[in-house]
Amino acid sequence: MKVAVVGAGINGVMSAWSLARRGHAVDLFERNDPISATSSASTKLLHGGLRYLETGHVSLVREGLSERAWWIAQAPQIAHPIELLLPVARGRGRPVWMIRIGLLAYDLLAGRRGLHRHRWEGRERVLERMPGLRSDALRGAFSFWDGQMDDAALGRWALQRACDAGVTLHTHNEVLQVGEDGSLHTAVPAGGRAAPSPLRYDAICNVAGPWAQRLLESSGLRSRHVLRLVRGSHLLVEGELACGLLVQAPSDDRVVFILPYLGRILIGTTEVEQALDAPIECSESERDYLLEVWNATFERRLEARDVRETFAGARPLIAEPGDPSANTREHAIERHGRVVSVFGGKWTTSRVLGEQVADEVERQR
Ligand SMILES: Cc1cc2nc3c(=O)[nH]c(=O)nc-3n(C[C@H](O)[C@H](O)[C@H](O)COP(=O)(O)OP(=O)(O)OC[C@H]3O[C@@H](n4cnc5c(N)ncnc54)[C@H](O)[C@@H]3O)c2cc1C
Repeated sequence: MKVAVVGAGINGVMSAWSLARRGHAVDLFERNDPISATSSASTKLLHGGLRYLETGHVSLVREGLSERAWWIAQAPQIAHPIELLLPVARGRGRPVWMIRIGLLAYDLLAGRRGLHRHRWEGRERVLERMPGLRSDALRGAFSFWDGQMDDAALGRWALQRACDAGVTLHTHNEVLQVGEDGSLHTAVPAGGRAAPSPLRYDAICNVAGPWAQRLLESSGLRSRHVLRLVRGSHLLVEGELACGLLVQAPSDDRVVFILPYLGRILIGTTEVEQALDAPIECSESERDYLLEVWNATFERRLEARDVRETFAGARPLIAEPGDPSANTREHAIERHGRVVSVFGGKWTTSRVLGEQVADEVERQR
């Protein structure tokens, strides 16, 4: 089949790769550079998502844990295990029994594909390993393992595999409209040649991430799903850490990651409603929130001037009422004639998503 994939974020790349491996002729359209939007603005974790257990998303966590192992096995030079400490302080945060049950479930769900089992480390040992941690109310920390990646580099690695499998990439070429009949209008004729307008495909995969619904709307197609965009911002500061930390924000108990990342320290992330047309960037209040989390965790105080870089991305979540932290991270696939659209998804599980997109495309044969 001749298939177009719209959007070269990780989900579009993995969908294109999966389709090409199955022998389809794939054109991948990206209006900017590949892996330049949400997929390079993540927290850089390949994980099941310990916190999603709190909201009962068990199958999502199991899938993420299995995929975490796949990425680390495929590209160990850019994806590796990382130890995380989850400090426990007297009179603050979630109760110890709750964290223990969560970590036990996390280990069990990883099964044979797990990295290392969680363990408890006493106060002295934690302070030895993580000098400068505020010790006032510290009781100790749970240690557990996840995966860490350079998301931009790993995305490019996957794109290279997709191109090797035969995918034709068209960058800086926005798809303006798609039709249920397989018609596709681009801003620039594909391949720079004069092309009949519109282009015709047996199937079109709309994997435009936060912009998937926008593409359907501009094509006059109504979707069952509504995307809710939630911005997550990160800070990069100078410094080194022996391992990562998962801490609970003092103001609202949300979990925030403090991670060693490419010779710096990454602090993130926030969850703030995002309008599609507004710039996707870290606001001053998000920066201050993340600095407050750091300052509650470490003796060394950080100020705004210590922040070397910020970056932000918009999570495309399938809209549910209430707190964005509790909103599902599951994805959904919807079909309009020859157009297959993807809503939501996680970086870690993008390979599974790509396979499901290819299954859906082949269903119409
Ligand atoms: C702050 C934050 C932290 C996260 N952390 C993690 C994490 O640690 N681990 C994890 O597993 N997941 C994480 N996620 C989730 C993960 O990053 C996203 O689910 C994933 O990157 C989405 O990929 P995507 O391909 O769907 O979207 P995108 O990466 O946004 O790609 C969509 C692409 O489509 C292109 N496009 C849009 N419209 C058109 C058009 N009309 N024509 C052509 N191209 C178009 C865009 O330019 C863009 O490149 C995080 C998300 C956020 C926001």
